[in-house]
Amino acid sequence: MARRKKIYEGKAKILYEGPEPGTIVQYFKDDATAFNAEKKAVIEGKGVLNNRLSEFFMTGLGQIGVPNHFIKRLNMREQLVRSVEIVPLEVIVRNYAAGTMSKRLGIEEGTQLPRPIVEYCYKDDSLGDPLVTEEHIAAFGWASQQDMDDILSLALRVNDFLSGVMMAVGIRLVDFKIEVGRVFDGDFHRLIVADEISPDSCRLWDIETGQKLDKDVFRRDLGDLKDAYTEVARRLGVMPKNTPPVTKPTLIN
Ligand code: 5GP
Repeated sequence: MARRKKIYEGKAKILYEGPEPGTIVQYFKDDATAFNAEKKAVIEGKGVLNNRLSEFFMTGLGQIGVPNHFIKRLNMREQLVRSVEIVPLEVIVRNYAAGTMSKRLGIEEGTQLPRPIVEYCYKDDSLGDPLVTEEHIAAFGWASQQDMDDILSLALRVNDFLSGVMMAVGIRLVDFKIEVGRVFDGDFHRLIVADEISPDSCRLWDIETGQKLDKDVFRRDLGDLKDAYTEVARRLGVMPKNTPPVTKPTLIN
C-alpha cells in the first residue's frame, strides 16, 4: 500500500492527504498537552474517544444545518473531513466564567455570564494564542467583516446545539473553542466548522456535582482523563451501553 502523505502534525492530531481532492484524513493521537505543550502525556485511548465524540457532535450539527468539515469516520482513530483554509483564529464561546476569563477579569469560576460571550484568539503557538479584538482581525486581514458575521453566527449555533445536547445528559457546557475554515466555490467561499469538537476543546461540568469531565482534569491534575472522557461518551451513548459509569470522585477547584 502506498505511504500516505502527511500534511501537518499538531499536538493532538495528524492530517494526511485524503483519497479524493478536497479531502483530508484526520488522525486523533493519544497525546495530551496543556499550557502550550509545557505539560505533556500520552493518555491511551484518548484519540479513540475524541474521534468518536467529534463525529457525534459534527454529525449532530450537520443534522441541524450547521455546516462542518465532517464526511465520515474511517476507523477507530481516523475520520475523513473536507479540506479547508483555516481562519487563523480560535473562536471561544463562554456561558460561565472559567479559565483565562476568570483570571483576566477576576470573576469566580462557575459564575453564569449574562449572555454567551464570544472571544477570538490569534492562532499562534509561539505567542500562546493571544486574545485579539475584531479590530486586529480586520486590520491584519485575518477575516473579512462578512466572515466575522458568519463566524459569530456559527459559534452561537454551535453553542445552542452543544449546550442542549450536554444539558440533556446532565452536563453543563461552561465554554468551548472551535475553529472555522473556508471552502471555495469559484470566486466565492463559505465558512464551515472545522478541526474537532471534543472534551479537549470544551469545559464540561457535571450539573449535580460540578465534577470536571474535560481537559482541565489533565491540566489541573484532577484525576484520570480517560475516565472523564469515557463518562461523557457513555452518557451521550457514543460508547457501548454496557460501559460502567465512572464514579471516582474528581476534586473540584
Ligand atoms: P481558556 O481561554 O479559558 O483557556 O479556554 C477557553 C475554552 O477554549 C476551554 O474550553 C478550552 O479547552 C478551549 N481552548 C482554548 N485554547 C485552546 C487550545 O489551544 N486548544 C484546545 N483544544 N482548546 C482550547
